[in-house]
Amino acid sequence: MTEKELQHLVEKISLESFSKKFAHSAVWNRRLRSTGGRYLLKNHALEFNPSVLQFLGLTELEKIIKHELCHYHLHLERRGYKHSDADFKKLLTKVGGSRYTPQMKKAQHNYECSSCGQQYARMRRLNTNRFGCGKCRGKLVLLS
Ligand SMILES: [Zn+2]
Ligand SMILES: [Zn+2]
Repeated sequence: MTEKELQHLVEKISLESFSKKFAHSAVWNRRLRSTGGRYLLKNHALEFNPSVLQFLGLTELEKIIKHELCHYHLHLERRGYKHSDADFKKLLTKVGGSRYTPQMKKAQHNYECSSCGQQYARMRRLNTNRFGCGKCRGKLVLLS
């Protein structure tokens, strides 16, 4: 998805879910690591982590856009825009945004070798009947 398409998607979700215009910029930020998106108080821009789309999919990205738009609209309206604010919680539930921006780590599957204890993190699920530990060929167990 190009940045222009991202911008359009955010504008569309803002109109459809909030009935309000998104009049600032939405950009990809490849440097975001553990978070799916963020709202910048200083210039009202929204930044999104391209890994969300890559690893979690469009539905998850849309939920994160809704989450960030809650910060955006509430902040511009001088209402409670922080996670702990009642305004924020209410609006987030109403529009169906993700409760928190999911940690990218959640997309990972963590395995541990049952013989030597070596740990592995993989984006995809492994068939543990076919793939063993790279060090000792022991059986891998899914941790999370
Ligand atoms: Zn947030
Ligand atoms: Zn091992």
